[in-house]
Amino acid sequence: MMEVTLKTPLSQVKHIGPRSVLYLRKLGLVTVEDLLRHFPFRYDDFSEFKRMADLVVGETVSVRGEIVHIENVRTRRRRMTLTEAVVEDESGSVGAVWFNQPFLMRNLRVGVRVSLSGKVAFAREGLQLTNPAYEVLGRGGTLHTGALVPVYHETEGLSSKWLRAHLKPLLPLLDEVPEFLPVEILERQDFMALSEAMKQVHFPASTEAAEQAKRRLAFDELFLIQLYLLEEKRKWQGQGAVAIPFNREREADVKSFLAQLPFALTDGQRMATWKIIKDMERPVPMNRLLEGDVGSGKTLVALLAAWVVMRSGYQALMMAPTEILARQHFGESVKRLGGLEGKFRIALLTAGERRVWEDGLERSATKEQITQGIAAGKVDLVLGTHALIQEGVKFKRLALSVVDEQHRFGIEQRGKLQQAVVSLEDGFKKTVPHLLSMTATPIPRTLSLTICGDLDLSVLDELPAGRKSIMTKLVTPANRADAYEFIRREILSGRQAFLICPLIEDSDVLEVKSATAEYQRLQEKVFLEFKLGLLHGKLKSKEKERVMRDFSAGKTQLLVSTSVVEVGVDVPNANVMVIEGADRFGLAQLHQFRGRVGRGEWQSYCFLFTDSTAAKSRKRLRALTENASGFALAEMDLELRGPGELIGVRQSGLPDLAMASLTDAELIGAAKEEAEKFWSVYPDFKKHPALGKKLSAFREGLHLE
Ligand code: ADP
Ligand code: MG
Repeated sequence: MMEVTLKTPLSQVKHIGPRSVLYLRKLGLVTVEDLLRHFPFRYDDFSEFKRMADLVVGETVSVRGEIVHIENVRTRRRRMTLTEAVVEDESGSVGAVWFNQPFLMRNLRVGVRVSLSGKVAFAREGLQLTNPAYEVLGRGGTLHTGALVPVYHETEGLSSKWLRAHLKPLLPLLDEVPEFLPVEILERQDFMALSEAMKQVHFPASTEAAEQAKRRLAFDELFLIQLYLLEEKRKWQGQGAVAIPFNREREADVKSFLAQLPFALTDGQRMATWKIIKDMERPVPMNRLLEGDVGSGKTLVALLAAWVVMRSGYQALMMAPTEILARQHFGESVKRLGGLEGKFRIALLTAGERRVWEDGLERSATKEQITQGIAAGKVDLVLGTHALIQEGVKFKRLALSVVDEQHRFGIEQRGKLQQAVVSLEDGFKKTVPHLLSMTATPIPRTLSLTICGDLDLSVLDELPAGRKSIMTKLVTPANRADAYEFIRREILSGRQAFLICPLIEDSDVLEVKSATAEYQRLQEKVFLEFKLGLLHGKLKSKEKERVMRDFSAGKTQLLVSTSVVEVGVDVPNANVMVIEGADRFGLAQLHQFRGRVGRGEWQSYCFLFTDSTAAKSRKRLRALTENASGFALAEMDLELRGPGELIGVRQSGLPDLAMASLTDAELIGAAKEEAEKFWSVYPDFKKHPALGKKLSAFREGLHLE
């Protein structure tokens, strides 16, 4: 037989059958090394062997002894087989019982020495272990009992028991794993060597060893992320950008913009605008993230920045994830800029719609007219979807790109955005536009350090004055009819309502189906007297547009929608938001939905329909009824559901352990600091080729996502 190495396919490893190979492949585990990198998510502590005489009810323990009695017993009532045993040591004995595993008696016979781990309970004959982990004591040490026993995520066909048994013999191969962290980091952070950490994480010598191993392995991933982000930042800043001096004239432009607003900027808006203006004064491209709750007025900040750029003789673009939003941006731009002095053009360019505003007039245009206008520098501000970059639109003098709802784009896509829209020669030099990303998904601080480490951050943490808070209520099936009556009364008094249909796991098609069915049911059985609209992602953009327009104009009173309505839709007359199957959405997303209402002068309501009685989901939903701040909710979501569920993180391509440690601010801080130190001491990987290779592999992984 060939020698097994880390690179050996699992299919060629002795004792791993073809069926297991299939299950392993489902988890993405193909080689021996992959399997060794499949880490447990927790441990059962069976480390303490107890004498039978010392057992206490309720404790989780390990015992060693000899089987003095064992038999299979059929129960009369539920037709189960119980395997009952008595195990004895020099101090006493304990019972053990297993359910429906009669085959156990093949290995466990009277006279055999075993080790058992489990929880001690009372039974008729005395103390008993129920379904304990067991192991026949042979010559070697114990594997499943009498230690910190690793527990892996159970997946089809691969139990923790199977994994433990097959991992253990492979551990010596880990001696081949090369260390890639620089020695000074290992010393500063007091880390164990990589091979040791990988052994300890599977079969730790102690709880402390397990913790240290995990810390080391999680650091590796966080460190690579930080190295990658800093590298991107250096690359980004190594490029040139157009400097937009903030002189007397620009100051006057800002003043006239503000003078025609029917309201004053919030402090947050003023601060963010000021930062952006300062950023754009430098010949280095800005890369700023503007984070603010729904309704905090991000668009206005972006428009103000765009206005400064336009008045300086350059172009700006604003990109949105949906056509509905792009159209709304266009409307808002015309509204805020249209009355201002000067000659300029504003264009809307999406796959479904093309319009131009000029001299107070709006008209539709062809794609060619607009792209040519952009290339000739005759269009000053362009609103659109990412069709804008996909179609390779060339700008003559682009100085600012704004990306709205940037969390819709992963790390990698974001990188592409930054590179794809390179403005043409400005004088002699090539430049990239300043980049302003915006998100309404509040990102908890620890997360933003990790997934947005290459960005500067501005936060709008207050809503414009005078906004009423939105009354949020949990609605159980029993209260559904009352809720419908309430909605009816609101609509009769002139308001409108949204109804979001439940998220159906990863299935657009099912979601569309459920929205369509709900739309029909409500129209035919509940709200016969009203006109309902239906919106989902499978509609042609023209139809979506029409549905939204009808709703905005009040021609329909209730809009049934899939989650496409999530971002940015602005219909101030709508004051009720109903979310069906609310328990299936993350808090951050529910908060986004809720942000669709409360935009007008009326008291607004959000109804969370749920038939889930699970304490955990009730607790989550209750958090929403009690909290108005998106930031508080985001922190809570991170705690309750883990980072994997947060929008934007899922798409970020982060590895598992890094995910798990995203709440560990201390470790993230350490990783960031070490990455910064590394780049400042070693501008390249000549001295650390192994680390260089690791980073390339990480980068590649991101590109594959
Ligand atoms: P966001 O994109 O952050 O969710 P918007 O930019 O859509 O929020 O703003 C929501 C609404 O609030 C818009 O109608 C906008 O004109 C209005 N708005 C923005 N800033 C202010 C302000 N300082 N005071 C009052 N209303 C504002
Ligand atoms: Mg917005």
